Amino acid sequence: KYHEEMAKRKKLHNIVQETKGNIRVFCRCRPLSKVETSSGFKCVVDFDGANDGDIGIMNGGTTKKTFKFDRVYTPKDDQAEVYADASPLVTSVLDGYNVCIFAYGQTGTGKTFTMEGTERNRGVNYRTLEELFKIAEERKDTVTYNISVSVLEVYNEQIRDLLATSPSSKKLEIKQAGEGSHHVPGIVEAKVEDINEVWDALQTGSNSRAVGSNNVNEHSSRSHCMLCIMVRAKNLINGDCTRSKLWLVDLAGSERLAKTDAQGDRLKEAQNINRSLSALGDVISALASRSSHIPYRNSKLTHLLQDSLGGDSKALMFVQISPSDNDASETLSSLNFASRVRGIELGPAKKQVDTAELQKFKQMLERSKQEVKLKD
Ligand code: ADP
Ligand code: MG
Repeated sequence: KYHEEMAKRKKLHNIVQETKGNIRVFCRCRPLSKVETSSGFKCVVDFDGANDGDIGIMNGGTTKKTFKFDRVYTPKDDQAEVYADASPLVTSVLDGYNVCIFAYGQTGTGKTFTMEGTERNRGVNYRTLEELFKIAEERKDTVTYNISVSVLEVYNEQIRDLLATSPSSKKLEIKQAGEGSHHVPGIVEAKVEDINEVWDALQTGSNSRAVGSNNVNEHSSRSHCMLCIMVRAKNLINGDCTRSKLWLVDLAGSERLAKTDAQGDRLKEAQNINRSLSALGDVISALASRSSHIPYRNSKLTHLLQDSLGGDSKALMFVQISPSDNDASETLSSLNFASRVRGIELGPAKKQVDTAELQKFKQMLERSKQEVKLKD
């Protein structure tokens, strides 16, 4: 039953994605926490239209503002339910498309819960990778896949390689690596054969994330955690060679710091967070207005995502919100941002052909054909 439902959704999703362009926005609201309940905070979110992608926020008890998204998850929807809608993108990556899945929202709204999840309640990252390897295995007679991962953190406009065994003294920079694709020289790309190897890489990543920060939660709410899965595919039947990327991004908290709180390092941090999140907004608006210049280079975040956030790729944004009246103004600001993102229609995505590999592969096929002929 579950698989039937998954198949149905996959099909629907692909139709929508092909016809309407390639940024989908899903809104997820976490449950009211025990602390919130015991402090007397009330839920201001109206889920009556959730099945149709509508969500309403009661503002000040009287007016209701409504938003429309590609999907709305109520606090009752579980991780499997959420993943079911992200899953079609996994197939896309293996088919040669660049994909970016990211979680946006105020700190404490469930970005990390959605992306990473917990050991007993796996999130999008784990489920995605699990399915990636499953499909790769199913296709192994026709396609050869080569998969590697990098784990990065962007903090204060600096890139940190979380898989590096020793912290490099050199600053990591983004270099142009051919047509629109980007590369960070010196970064660790761990070749992975199965989900366990990825899991180990992720553990290494999150352990080194904690190093050097005295408050892990605070640090993680101010940095972007970026997982990049690189997929090289060779189709043994039709000779296609593709080189695609999947970015899984847990963004820094979108909340504005109270002006009085921010001084010195905190102020710099806050400005950098705002800089990269507003750069993300600017890139998205430029894409929406089909501007000839897309300002990817205004932040490390957008620069890294350049080839996975735009016309040729498929993107999925989770906008995470809190149900509490206490957070209503942050919630409204997140939903406004997300609506702007959803308004974009980019047209169809393109496969990322690996031209050099394709040439080599064709020559090799040609040679083996010749050899067969000679034997005959
Ligand atoms: P963020 O990464 O946005 O700061 P977290 O993912 O750390 O937020 O979530 C904050 C808290 O809320 C965590 O304790 C998390 O387990 C809980 N939480 C978030 N979303 C959900 C959900 N959908 N269902 C149950 N608990 C959730
Ligand atoms: Mg988090």
